[in-house]
Amino acid sequence: MNIITLGDKSFSLFIDDQKINKAVQKVANEINDTLAGKNLIFLSVLNGSFMFTADLVRLIKGNPELSFIKTASYEGLIGSEKVNQLIGLNNELRHRNVVILEDIVDTGNTLDAVYKLVQQQQPASIKVAALFYKPLAYKKEINIDYVGLEIENDFIVGYGLDYNGLGRNLKHIYKIADK
Ligand code: 5GP
Ligand code: MG
Repeated sequence: MNIITLGDKSFSLFIDDQKINKAVQKVANEINDTLAGKNLIFLSVLNGSFMFTADLVRLIKGNPELSFIKTASYEGLIGSEKVNQLIGLNNELRHRNVVILEDIVDTGNTLDAVYKLVQQQQPASIKVAALFYKPLAYKKEINIDYVGLEIENDFIVGYGLDYNGLGRNLKHIYKIADK
């Protein structure tokens, strides 16, 4: 099916599973080449990264650890200040070599928040891997060390990424057809 419907929107096939697999393999190769011998801990940012994570870690050599986190923003007590918290992290990153796994980096706001919270735990090193990256939308300074595929500013679904909770199970990536 080249056109699918999720809720009130139509999406057309954009990146098929073979191309996704190649992008995941590329990220895995780069991590295996550049971080060989390090005691890695992968930190997968839920929910969108679950499929990328599952496929990637099976291609990683050595004995990495794997942890999952979810971000939650609470309204601060003063004004509308947003306070980001990581759910699922128990001070386990101190002195560790951390690789943050993101499904997609768009503006970089999410990555920025995650990165700062990881930094607070004083790891030995922090690397960032993103399966998809929108360079034209990115407005942060953090270096994205490993990128699967660069894409334009289209809204995509599938392979873990959702539209209103739908589409995460799709094996291909689709992009929005009616803007
Ligand atoms: P950022 O904080 O970089 O702007 O966006 C990161 C988060 O926004 C991603 O983790 C993802 O949840 C969501 N997001 C950004 N772009 C897309 C997209 O094209 N499709 C979907 N489904 N989610 C996106
Ligand atoms: Mg994400």
